[in-house]
Amino acid sequence: MSIERTLSIVKPDGVQKNLIGEVYRRFEQAGLRIVAARMIQLSQAQAEAFYAVHRERPFYKDLVHYMISGPVVVQVLEGENAIERNREIMGATDPKKAAKGSIRADLAASIEENVVHGSDGPDTARTEIGFFFAQSEICPRKR
Ligand code: ADP
Ligand code: MG
Repeated sequence: MSIERTLSIVKPDGVQKNLIGEVYRRFEQAGLRIVAARMIQLSQAQAEAFYAVHRERPFYKDLVHYMISGPVVVQVLEGENAIERNREIMGATDPKKAAKGSIRADLAASIEENVVHGSDGPDTARTEIGFFFAQSEICPRKR
């Protein structure tokens, strides 16, 4: 295991349902540190670019529409095994299949409106962090 960074997003449904604190509480309780954070309204172009990997999927257009339906909160999480740890805290994409006690099992409405995004591997984490944050905006904590 090593100290990793990963990109997390509280999606528009999470912000709308006042779940920012609840999501952050779960990250912090799990020992992940929030080392950068910002609230933004994504443009259509930004949402399209961020999810470009899903361009050919049938749900792509809806996904972009959903992601620009309201503000999101983007954050960088840092900690031991942060990428996989965050995916565990989030739960599976479909809340019906997500592990009990995960964010999506407890708080998500559907496979689309599922409260959070999290990078799925080291390469995506690096790209996705760079999509939202300059190096100077990331504030590693004293250990
Ligand atoms: P994850 O967010 O768990 O990494 P994916 O990368 O597969 O999941 O998909 C990105 C996002 O697209 C999902 O979080 C969800 O909002 C949406 N999505 C994925 N699969 C579907 C689907 N079958 N129908 C509708 N929306 C979907
Ligand atoms: Mg994904």
